Amino acid sequence: MKITDVEATVLVAKLPEPWQIAGTIFRHSYMTLVRIRSDAGFTGYGECIVRHGPGATKAIVEEVLRPILVGKDPFEIEGRWDEMFMMLRNRGHHSGFFLEAMAGVDIALWDLMGKALNLPVHQLMGGFGRAHLPAYASSLLFKDLAALEKEAETLMAQGFKAVKLKVGKGLPEDIRNVKAIRKIIGEDVKLMVDANGAFDAATAVEVGKGLEDHGVYWFEEPVPPDDLPGYAALKRALTIRIAGGESLFSRFDFRDFIERRLLDVVQPDIARAGGFTECRKIAAMASASHIPYAPHTGASGALCVIASLHL
Ligand code: MG
Repeated sequence: MKITDVEATVLVAKLPEPWQIAGTIFRHSYMTLVRIRSDAGFTGYGECIVRHGPGATKAIVEEVLRPILVGKDPFEIEGRWDEMFMMLRNRGHHSGFFLEAMAGVDIALWDLMGKALNLPVHQLMGGFGRAHLPAYASSLLFKDLAALEKEAETLMAQGFKAVKLKVGKGLPEDIRNVKAIRKIIGEDVKLMVDANGAFDAATAVEVGKGLEDHGVYWFEEPVPPDDLPGYAALKRALTIRIAGGESLFSRFDFRDFIERRLLDVVQPDIARAGGFTECRKIAAMASASHIPYAPHTGASGALCVIASLHL
């Protein structure tokens, strides 16, 4: 079988109401859909996560990655992954838009293989045969307290056993929100918080101590993803689990966090970090250090969610 075409389509949806998190307001949800066709009539679909400028990812898929793929055997995914990555890694393109484009291509190649072999991707990867996976509600965004409380009540009525709340405003507001949500969800429901990298390390330690007093399960992206010394300072100062990884790309980014034990939970996004091929390697690295893996999906399309479930 040979790959005959690779195309990317930008999808945009206006959000019913803006999503506000630390540092950003999202008014639209984007994705870049990757379609890979073969001469045997099978088509694989993949998603590239997109936050801004979806045309950039489309151009990388079609102008940079397509020439590597057309005419090749779609089952040789490891080989193509390496070829795509090696082409530009020494030119600074080992993350960002480039890896997001590669992620969508990789997901589409696995989907194509699954269709050709008539097997779901989770079985192609050696399947666990799990019928159920734990889920958490993500996330209670930046809203006034009354709106947050109302949303938390709805989540409890829906049966969620774990809930995530956005933080990033600092003391006292973040801790006030944590206390209010804890009161609604009770002690038996897990509460996680996510700062989206809003804090410097000193502020994150201050907030983190407050979170520890209220039994928060994990503190996600307390500092920016490039601040490895900041993560190290947090690990020394706090006992709360530190989660992160949605802003990291490929096993090479995760290597530094895992080797230095800077994260207690890794959260790669399959549509960003490099697709199935790369995320299963990151999962193996995390497993070897006994670090749990909680996939990130965020404001993504359905393909990212489905692919994460298979992974
Ligand atoms: Mg997050």
